[in-house]
Amino acid sequence: MIIDTDIAVIGAGPAGCNAALIAAEYDFSVVVLDEQASPGGQVWREKSPAILNAPETPESVAGESIRNAISQSNVSHLGSVRVWHIERSIDGFVIHYENAGVSISLNCRCLVIATGAREYVQPIPGWTLPGVVGMAGATSIFKQDLIPIGSKMVVSGTGPLAFFVAAEQQRLGGKVAAVVTSNTLLDWIKALPPMLLRPRLLFRGLRWIVALYVNRIPVYWGHTVTRVEGESSVSRVEFKKIGKDWSPQGERRFIDCDCVSLGSGLISAFESFQLAGISLEHRSDVGGWIPKAEQDGQTDVDGCFICGDGAGIRGSLAAQTHGKLAGLSAAEFLGAQINHPINELRREHTRAATFGEAMSKLSIPRPGLTKLTTAQTVVCRCEGITREEIEDEINLGAQSTISVKSGVRVGMGPCGGKFCQTAISDLIAKAKSCPVSEIVPPTARPPLRPVSVNTLAGDFDYSDLPISKPSPL
Ligand SMILES: Cc1cc2nc3c(=O)[nH]c(=O)nc-3n(C[C@H](O)[C@H](O)[C@H](O)COP(=O)(O)OP(=O)(O)OC[C@H]3O[C@@H](n4cnc5c(N)ncnc54)[C@H](O)[C@@H]3O)c2cc1C
Repeated sequence: MIIDTDIAVIGAGPAGCNAALIAAEYDFSVVVLDEQASPGGQVWREKSPAILNAPETPESVAGESIRNAISQSNVSHLGSVRVWHIERSIDGFVIHYENAGVSISLNCRCLVIATGAREYVQPIPGWTLPGVVGMAGATSIFKQDLIPIGSKMVVSGTGPLAFFVAAEQQRLGGKVAAVVTSNTLLDWIKALPPMLLRPRLLFRGLRWIVALYVNRIPVYWGHTVTRVEGESSVSRVEFKKIGKDWSPQGERRFIDCDCVSLGSGLISAFESFQLAGISLEHRSDVGGWIPKAEQDGQTDVDGCFICGDGAGIRGSLAAQTHGKLAGLSAAEFLGAQINHPINELRREHTRAATFGEAMSKLSIPRPGLTKLTTAQTVVCRCEGITREEIEDEINLGAQSTISVKSGVRVGMGPCGGKFCQTAISDLIAKAKSCPVSEIVPPTARPPLRPVSVNTLAGDFDYSDLPISKPSPL
């Protein structure tokens, strides 16, 4: 099946929704596709329909508002669809997506990619045990299912998300045994000036921290969990003080718990940008490899625009204005006369991005954290490959992400390297004594998401194959 539209937007988070809504104001047909059932993205994820009533949160209110805006607009929202391939065509792009086991192609003249971020968790011994959950993943469970995780959680990670996870776990009736954060109080004090640009958010964050102290929950500043222990599930964590570069040092200490939420910041989900042919650049200040783009989302691929966290981790506030800028760029590309105040939007985006970049600075892992991954730690979870096996391959001469991948199958499992690529690049950079910015990620290959052979085969039947008659003897 093939359908056509002027503008396709991949991703219905704050960035994609705003891009779609503003572009639709210029009378273009706009389709927004997302693998979640309803718009909202990661930060404004909708609660499960099984939950009838729930107390409002700033995220649920913002989510309802964007969902209403989309449903009242002439934007076509395609939910529960997974984009698995992006191709360029003579007059634009072809987006291939899977919907209920059927592969559908969407032709568009112009494309906005707003696929957001994914979380990074530094591999540590025991991180694959049941009971370990990523910090960002934990927020998805909290928002969608409104349940706490485990009965006694340790949160260990970087940036503001650690305190948000602890606050949500408590709000939903769960217990927090401790918060172990790599940041020091001094890191936070240094981040205060840009945070004052958004006092409402700053005070919200302060309330989370004060609540921990009021409830006598220990907060270990400048520490990290170094090992998760347990037979068949989590029973306790080992943690240590860390140095300036976040190398673990000092004595081993332990906290009993049945669940641990780990997080080492977010990274751009850049593989969809790669498939669209956009060049990447390395920007360690906003999460590592990101697509090359201008402030309004223009890329080096004609007719393809990007916005939101995928373009660099700057948070949901910046994603909204970035979405509007990219939507206007798309409309302008298709010939619209723009009558929105672009300069005002750019200023608003710069302010939001300054705040977001300060949060990213707190969240981005420092090099010492890589020392948490021991020789026997599984790095590639899908294929069960340890750090030692990867290092052996590197020592045998595999000096690029692609050669390590073809040598030991890291990143060849269902996640396609989305979870382990950062750790593998760190290991190659260490072996080559070069900055990680020199370790180029592997080329992206379809499918972007796991897709069944049945879906790809569609109506194909072997009996339909034209078989020529045998030649006469
Ligand atoms: C798991 C997770 C949880 C987070 N939780 C929070 C939080 O609680 N608070 C906070 O401030 N920030 C949170 N963040 C950061 C937050 O995502 C961003 O700051 C903000 O949502 C960025 O908006 P965006 O529109 O750029 O991307 P997103 O909101 O991430 O939206 C991107 C959308 O693209 C869709 N998508 C991606 N690839 C495909 C594909 N191939 N096919 C179909 N759809 C696709 C995704 O389903 C998603 O809905 C979280 C990030 C992650 C990864």
